[in-house]
Amino acid sequence: MRRIACVSLVALLVVVFCGAKRVATPQLIYSLSDDAKQQIQTALPGSRLMLMEVTAYCPCVKCCGRGAHGVTASGARITQNGGQFVAADTSVLPFGTKLVIPGYGSGPVEVLDRGGAIKGNRLDVFFPTHEQAKAFGRRWVEILVTPND
Ligand SMILES: [Zn+2]
Repeated sequence: MRRIACVSLVALLVVVFCGAKRVATPQLIYSLSDDAKQQIQTALPGSRLMLMEVTAYCPCVKCCGRGAHGVTASGARITQNGGQFVAADTSVLPFGTKLVIPGYGSGPVEVLDRGGAIKGNRLDVFFPTHEQAKAFGRRWVEILVTPND
């Protein structure tokens, strides 16, 4: 009796593990090298890694609708930081949070915007043109969230 119970527990764990693995392993992950992660975590203690689904947008009517007028939801203009910033779910990553996003930006970028579809582990990175936003596509990216000071 006891042995059967143990065997079925193992079987259950195998099923749960395999199921979780299938859901949690996206096809394409962009991430920093281990060296880069270590350097940032040493320079900014308290930095943490998050796996995010990242898409891109631009100031066009298709991406932002009418009436955006070059101003983000935080009040910052879209020209801030050379036009390198992101939209996030501000209940997860508040305005002003600085992120290191492999494949986007020339350094850390700030959360300055939010959007209806940007919830939970979703991010939208900003580009000046629709072509650039489209070329970025949709990716899974392991980002570094730097601590707020
Ligand atoms: Zn656009």
